[in-house]
Amino acid sequence: MSSKLHFYNTISRKKEEFIPANPPFVGMYVCGPTVYGDAHLGHARSAITFDIVFRYLKHLGYKVRYVRNITDVGHLENDADYGEDKIAKKARLEQLEPMEVVQYYKDRYHREMDALNNNRPSIEPQASGHIIEQIAMTEKLLENGFAYVSEGSVYFDVEKYAASHHYGKLSGRKIEDLQSNSRDLDGQSEKRSPLDFALWKKASPEHIMRWPSPWSDGFPGWHIECSVMSSKYLGNSFDIHGGGLDLLFPHHECEIAQSVGANGEEPVRYWLHNNMITLNGQKMAKSLGNTIMLHEFFSGDNELLDQSYDPLTIRFFILQAHYRSTLDFGNEPLQAAQKGYSKLKTALASARSLSIEWKPESDEVTALINKWSDECAAAMNDDMNTALTIATLFDMASYINGLKNVQEKRIPSKAQFEEIINIFAAYFEDVLGLGSESTGSQNVEVLDDVMDVLLELRTTAKENKDYGTADAIRDKLKAIGVTIMDGKDGADWQVDA
Ligand code: ZN
Repeated sequence: MSSKLHFYNTISRKKEEFIPANPPFVGMYVCGPTVYGDAHLGHARSAITFDIVFRYLKHLGYKVRYVRNITDVGHLENDADYGEDKIAKKARLEQLEPMEVVQYYKDRYHREMDALNNNRPSIEPQASGHIIEQIAMTEKLLENGFAYVSEGSVYFDVEKYAASHHYGKLSGRKIEDLQSNSRDLDGQSEKRSPLDFALWKKASPEHIMRWPSPWSDGFPGWHIECSVMSSKYLGNSFDIHGGGLDLLFPHHECEIAQSVGANGEEPVRYWLHNNMITLNGQKMAKSLGNTIMLHEFFSGDNELLDQSYDPLTIRFFILQAHYRSTLDFGNEPLQAAQKGYSKLKTALASARSLSIEWKPESDEVTALINKWSDECAAAMNDDMNTALTIATLFDMASYINGLKNVQEKRIPSKAQFEEIINIFAAYFEDVLGLGSESTGSQNVEVLDDVMDVLLELRTTAKENKDYGTADAIRDKLKAIGVTIMDGKDGADWQVDA
């Protein structure tokens, strides 16, 4: 068991001790969503994985600048260099301005990530707000000889780069294999090689998202935004880059080539990738008819679901697996997760209100406390093994329940028990983010609606001279900390401080 934090670094393919370049500061960049549709489980897993990295680094005392982008331009269909822009396509189908699509799905993404108890990043830059910087980096790549202009578009010259650098170092792909496997598709003929990728694309007449540039009215390629926004906010070389495994190639491989080609420095010291999610053993895909959106899990509104699931049950389920393993979703495992999560939550709540006859401090209990504390730290230090951390929390929950049910013989002192609660809460609430203190705006909105319904029922009861019911509503709400205030214009309410 290690006492120091280690990450599995995708680029070296081994676990390495995490040593930031400039402690206590840590820079972390994570590829965020392309906001043209609702978030699914893959979005949730990536956001939760890097929220855990963010939380744990802060728990260890680091000052983390966490940058996660919003892709709102340049991501074309099939992740390719041709086809329609995903956002422009949605805008065309819905008859909206593209930025209306972006705002709508960005807001929904935020609400859903809040409900999952993810911290918001320190900076959330949008690609469309960094067009000037993307043009500047493209100019630098042209200057350095790693890019060329063709028909008003600019492409990165992969073979030229590969002559002096290792292209494929992250994904492990070999340039010879890529060359023999790629074929020229229609519309790619303006590239010198099918391996080349767009830095700037000339806009066709019907393309609405366009900006002036030295080469054409057009738009940036998909990969360049991340090279630009990471270096702008974290410097040319920074500590951690994260994202889903599906972004490894070509997106992250291209990011390295662009950043090295433009700045002459390796951009990232630790590359972290979370694995994918399957549903009942199958890959989720629209064509298979088995995609479930995140909000459908929360509402239960999908025929593949037996019930709705609390966002924190989803979070707990995701954290029960290591982020580098695949994770299979289904109703049964989710229901099991719901029970497990409830067991831990209940144990912490009952620990906080437990009052028994405490014993003098004993070495036996001290040893137990040290063991749990070491186990939680070692699990997190071992490449964020949240599954093992949760296993230790279950041990602690059993002990707490044993005390509550007067079966446990190892009775702690009051101070020892407080230490146990502190360890439990530090990992359960702060590090894993499983406390139910979520103040997600979605919850607030639901509360508003629920209160409207209750006040309406009370008004109806009063109109019917059913004062018993009206008073019971008022008194029961008061008991749970909500005060109703009757006024001339009807009733209002507030949550007691
Ligand atoms: Zn990216």
